[in-house]
Amino acid sequence: MPGFELFGAEEKKEVQDVLDNGVLMRYGFDGNRNGHHKALELEKDLATRMQTDYAQVVSSGTAALTVALACAGVGSGDEVIMPTFTFVASFEAILSVGATPILCDVDDTLTLAPGAVEALITDKTKVVMPVHMCGSMADLKAMKAICKKHNLILLEDACQAIGGTYEGKPLGSYGDMGCFSFDYVKTVTAGEGGGLITNSKLYADRAHQYQDHGHDHIGTDRGAETHPFLGYNYRLSELHAAVGIAQLRKLDHTLALQKKNYTLLRDALTIIPEVTFRRVPDGGEESYAFLTFFLPDKESAMEAHKALGLHGVDACFYWYYNNWHYYKKWEHLLNPTSLHKLSEEQMQGLQKNNSSYASSDAWISRTVSCLIKVGWSDAEVQERASKMVKALQSVFIIN
Ligand SMILES: *Cc1c(COP(=O)(O)O)cnc(C)c1O
Repeated sequence: MPGFELFGAEEKKEVQDVLDNGVLMRYGFDGNRNGHHKALELEKDLATRMQTDYAQVVSSGTAALTVALACAGVGSGDEVIMPTFTFVASFEAILSVGATPILCDVDDTLTLAPGAVEALITDKTKVVMPVHMCGSMADLKAMKAICKKHNLILLEDACQAIGGTYEGKPLGSYGDMGCFSFDYVKTVTAGEGGGLITNSKLYADRAHQYQDHGHDHIGTDRGAETHPFLGYNYRLSELHAAVGIAQLRKLDHTLALQKKNYTLLRDALTIIPEVTFRRVPDGGEESYAFLTFFLPDKESAMEAHKALGLHGVDACFYWYYNNWHYYKKWEHLLNPTSLHKLSEEQMQGLQKNNSSYASSDAWISRTVSCLIKVGWSDAEVQERASKMVKALQSVFIIN
């Protein structure tokens, strides 16, 4: 997944453009910037690549989700349905606008289970937020049908699956809004950064204003601009945007490498009958950022994860006990611990999350994911494949 593996002359050239004129901020100073508007250029490129009418770049993926929720008018007392398996950023963004994250079971896609989503809908629900974890997507057709039926907003967290598609559409572009992260370990990196895509002019206009203190961006005198509503500062700097431009241009190349390496490893594992693969919903194509598979039960999955490490297969994850990606270790959310005071509505709503998530536990406890790198040589991928097979076979020989 990491775009940092492909950091090179292209990124340096884009950054040099910014250093040459010294204008590090995206707004104003037009006389000095030699025509370089890197954040704006990244937005144009992102919208084009993702086949949406609009894109807004911001300072992180978390900021992108936050801005998206604010643009959709989500706030105090509103509930947002999100999966038990994601990165902590998903609920951070929801809490930061004053809304309440409602945890929802995942199924063998390792993303929101449609039936579980419907069961959680109340008159407070405003948004369904599927998270396309580890390169593969939620059943977006089912999500859209649920949102249509209950008049909800569909917000895709595509931070870990940039470049994947569903029914031929880029992930992130299928719902009302979609978000990407350009942090240092993502497929496209700007060091830090994020992007929001949408076909809604209303959301796009709001996003552009909200992420810059509510500035209306009318006219050429920044100091004279008014503020139609409250905003914050989630701007992306020109330096970060410059890196992002070069990285986004490499996306299709990165995806091709990921697919090649993923396919070779997956094909190798098919000789182990105990290993099965995560379900990709019909109509979906992964970004191939991770190879994710199931072992027959929790014990063998833990053994497999350990054996992979002992056989020198790095960057494999057992999410069930992971501190950042699975609800079981989100004690600070489940027993809300916040520096600033949370509202009564939030405190009450958060109690709903002290439920049991049997489907999530059943699938995640059996799951192992291995990161797909793009810098491996063909020989290295072959070697990795044989190490993986040996490691996984060792689990079943012992048992
Ligand atoms: C990385 C990530 C984010 C947040 O991105 P940052 O840029 O690190 O703030 C959000 N959701 C998921 C699923 C992620 O993996």
